Amino acid sequence: MLHAAAEVFPLVKTGGLADVVAALPPALERAGADTRLLLPGLPAIVDALEQQRAVCEIGPAFGAARVTLRRGQLPSSHMPAYVIDAPYLYRRGGGPYQDASGVDWPDNLQRFALLGWVAAHLAAGELDAAWAPDVLHAHDWHAALACAYMAAHPSGACRSVFTIHNLAYQGHFALADFALLGLPASFGAPSGLEFHGQLALMKAGLQFARRVTTVSPTHAREIATPEFGFGLDGVIRDRGADVSGILNGVDGKVWNPQHDPALVVSYGADALAGKLQCKRALQREAGLEPRAEAPLFGLVSRLTAQKGVDLLLAALPALLGSGAQLFVLGSGDRALEAALQTAARAHPGRVAARIGYDEALAHRLIAGSDVILVPSRFEPCGLTQMYGLRYGTLPLVRRVGGLADTVVDAGDAARATGFVFDAATPEALSDAMLRTAHAFRGPDAWQAMMRRAMAQDLSWDAAAASYLALYAQAAAG
Ligand code: ADP
Repeated sequence: MLHAAAEVFPLVKTGGLADVVAALPPALERAGADTRLLLPGLPAIVDALEQQRAVCEIGPAFGAARVTLRRGQLPSSHMPAYVIDAPYLYRRGGGPYQDASGVDWPDNLQRFALLGWVAAHLAAGELDAAWAPDVLHAHDWHAALACAYMAAHPSGACRSVFTIHNLAYQGHFALADFALLGLPASFGAPSGLEFHGQLALMKAGLQFARRVTTVSPTHAREIATPEFGFGLDGVIRDRGADVSGILNGVDGKVWNPQHDPALVVSYGADALAGKLQCKRALQREAGLEPRAEAPLFGLVSRLTAQKGVDLLLAALPALLGSGAQLFVLGSGDRALEAALQTAARAHPGRVAARIGYDEALAHRLIAGSDVILVPSRFEPCGLTQMYGLRYGTLPLVRRVGGLADTVVDAGDAARATGFVFDAATPEALSDAMLRTAHAFRGPDAWQAMMRRAMAQDLSWDAAAASYLALYAQAAAG
């Protein structure tokens, strides 16, 4: 299996995609599949790759004078990884998709065309004489072109699988630049990559992969509807049963309250006192009042409209009225960042906000909070609520996508693991927060929910088994 993607935790991460690309390949390997990754040669990746050697000189491509395929091992997981060393396209500061000021790189089409093109050639057995995959698994629009190149030049036995991690990011480019891709002209039509007078690279995966997946069963149904399809629901519906949902897992090596170096003390379902110490430490760190009896709501998120942070700001009076506290860690939309900072200044000791990206603080926040908030408008899978479940931090989520698939509302006393609301409105969120704060004051039922949440099997092994079954279907189909 060859996994082609633009990010991998902990080297390059902008969101849940990086966590998936770090954890799914090792889970497939544990299940017996020979699995490798293909990544763009971003500085953090090339510089960290261990035992690296050149596999082949590809030569000039997509404007880069020198392109070399290297092979090595990822530092923490020791997974075999191919890296496309193309300094002209990849060796620069800033992020994987944008410069340091948040502006998209102007040559993203070339940068991600190269990723897809190399993936397709590797899949065809043309780049590494010693290895070729049976399945190429491409993730999100960044790697989607691999599926189009493979469809344009079918060779060998390799089949493609494409996973949508976030349909809102489709990789839009000028249609006039289609010629740069070197694909047959028919691939530039609406039945190919064209989307309302532009190119949408995501469509390369949706149209040409043998199988299309997304990261939860509920989201697989949602994306076939106009409400969640971002204009591509028709394409998804046309693929019919080729589209399915496989729920992500939690990497227990990274997210485990019993062995988490970021925490002041470890804890588990049988030793919950440690969690209270984590809460005290977090309140101290955030400058929140040191009150054990105040329910502490946490949020770790990209700050975008998707994540419902505006709903949270509008529902803040209900949260404060219930005697609860709020700690937000996030970055993104400048207006949301400013509004959160204003709320923190207006309510010292009760609301705290840290603007930025901080992996260790994310661990401390998820461990030390009583409730993890995920009030998303849409959520393909969502990882923070799953981390919350593992850490006994009960999720308060909207009933969408993977949130609906992973959290059972407190109303179902025998199975409850959190709190679920329906409408994307401040009122519905306010009601849910009041319900949650009330439930927090009944410690026996709350602790029963915590234990049930912590006992839930969220390992990647179940997902790996589902992907292997899907790969077998794709190879046979
Ligand atoms: P998405 O991929 O849409 O951003 P997910 O819930 O799937 O949402 O994954 C988000 C990942 O990014 C989680 O691992 C979460 O802990 C992490 N994360 C988001 N924002 C921050 C931040 N400001 N600091 C640290 N980690 C963050």
